[in-house]
Amino acid sequence: MYFEFTEEQALWHKTVQDFVDKEFGREYYRQCDQERRYPYELYKRLAELGWIGIMLPEEYGGMGSDAIMYTILNEGLGKYGVDTGTPVALTTFTATNVVRYGTEEQKQNYLPKVCKGEIRFSISITEPDAGSDAASLKISAEQDGDDFVINGQKVFSTAAHAENNIICLAARTDKTAPKHKGISLILVPNNTPGLELRRLNTLARRATGTNEIFFTDVRVPRSNLLGELNHGWEYLSGHLEIERLAVAGMNLGNAQTALNDALDYAKDRVQFGKPIAQFQVIKHMLADMALEVDAVRLIVYRAAWMVSQGKPCAREASMAKLFASETLFKTATNGMQILGGYAQMPEYDMERYFREGKQAMVGGGTSQIQRSVIARGLGL
Ligand SMILES: Cc1cc2nc3c(=O)[nH]c(=O)nc-3n(C[C@H](O)[C@H](O)[C@H](O)COP(=O)(O)OP(=O)(O)OC[C@H]3O[C@@H](n4cnc5c(N)ncnc54)[C@H](O)[C@@H]3O)c2cc1C
Repeated sequence: MYFEFTEEQALWHKTVQDFVDKEFGREYYRQCDQERRYPYELYKRLAELGWIGIMLPEEYGGMGSDAIMYTILNEGLGKYGVDTGTPVALTTFTATNVVRYGTEEQKQNYLPKVCKGEIRFSISITEPDAGSDAASLKISAEQDGDDFVINGQKVFSTAAHAENNIICLAARTDKTAPKHKGISLILVPNNTPGLELRRLNTLARRATGTNEIFFTDVRVPRSNLLGELNHGWEYLSGHLEIERLAVAGMNLGNAQTALNDALDYAKDRVQFGKPIAQFQVIKHMLADMALEVDAVRLIVYRAAWMVSQGKPCAREASMAKLFASETLFKTATNGMQILGGYAQMPEYDMERYFREGKQAMVGGGTSQIQRSVIARGLGL
């Protein structure tokens, strides 16, 4: 058993970390959040480097890398905030649906453009009445000749408003089938007539942004169907595994920075004649934070390794997502305490990690739902 990256993985880890620090840095992440600005510059640069195609096959312009290399990228992109790293992860994990279920024509049509940054993807599953119980979604896509006609509403569709974005829409295509059986995935460009997006004023994810979307007689060709009709729910299970791994990687990166920032602050901040890091209570808080972030690292890379080996790992991906998101929130919460009053100021970043940690425990399936998945793995 090895607990170290290979030489190639270690080099990639350093390359990504250096890239984030040298070309963007924490100020960029902070500004995007403060200005509620989608990180187009970061996205464009990653496309130039070819990193958007990290998990996509080389024949379509991708890097053909495995889930461990993907997690290393996500850890780096999440370093100064999960939100700003999200658009790339969202495109990459959604694009894997095209790789797995798309026709050759769809692959040729979408994947090279994804790699070049010419198009991007988002995923719309959640509806006002279908959150954790996502399979109860109602939005309808009815066949009309060679088209689907879509009517209904989605909510919390992250990045759906971004330029040249294609929404991977989970819609009901058979109203008479049991709820898990009548769902399909359909690709809907966000400039299709009849589609209205309203950006939501959320606590976190202020940079990337999340939207409610209203569909009124939105017409897309039947060729935009991904995979087989009414098989969408099984496809989403595979999708959620890779989404949870990606999110967990970004949460790990951000939790590590929350710990580092709190540690640096505690060493510098002098009260009662000594750095606050010398008070045992603060030392122990930092020790617990370090312990938890380390444990997250192990569980996240274990899940990445399982995905890279093609092993079934719904339970392990849920464990990674659950533990990484709760640890980000806990580390940032403790960080808020260690930074005292200054924690509340955006220039110290901790309040942003704290907000993003709160969001991390909801998006991609809440902590309660992850625990249900884990319990299912225990036969409960
Ligand atoms: C910023 C943001 C971005 C998002 N981005 C996307 C996106 O891009 N695409 C997308 O499709 N969705 C997205 N979501 C939606 C997200 O996946 C849902 O919010 C989440 O699945 C929970 O659904 P809900 O908010 O309706 O809460 P509900 O399902 O109503 O849950 C409310 C509470 O009840 C608990 N609960 C519900 N059912 C159970 C149960 N069976 N057992 C125990 N507890 C339960 C939940 O854990 C939660 O604590 C995003 C959400 C946010 C906040």
